[in-house]
Amino acid sequence: MDISVGTKVEMKKQHPCGCREFEILRIGMDFRIRCCGCSREVMLPRSKAEKNIKRIIEAKE
Ligand SMILES: [Zn+2]
Repeated sequence: MDISVGTKVEMKKQHPCGCREFEILRIGMDFRIRCCGCSREVMLPRSKAEKNIKRIIEAKE
């Protein structure tokens, strides 16, 4: 999966605020993502994050 910092993705599991869109802030052992609905930041283990991504909405150039 082609993910880089700045990519917007749709997750299978929605954030408690109801939004499914997240922006990737940091990639490493853990992914740091920001909810596009409420701007909260979340840390996820890489394996979990990759499984959770449904589709890429917008890739950064
Ligand atoms: Zn949210």
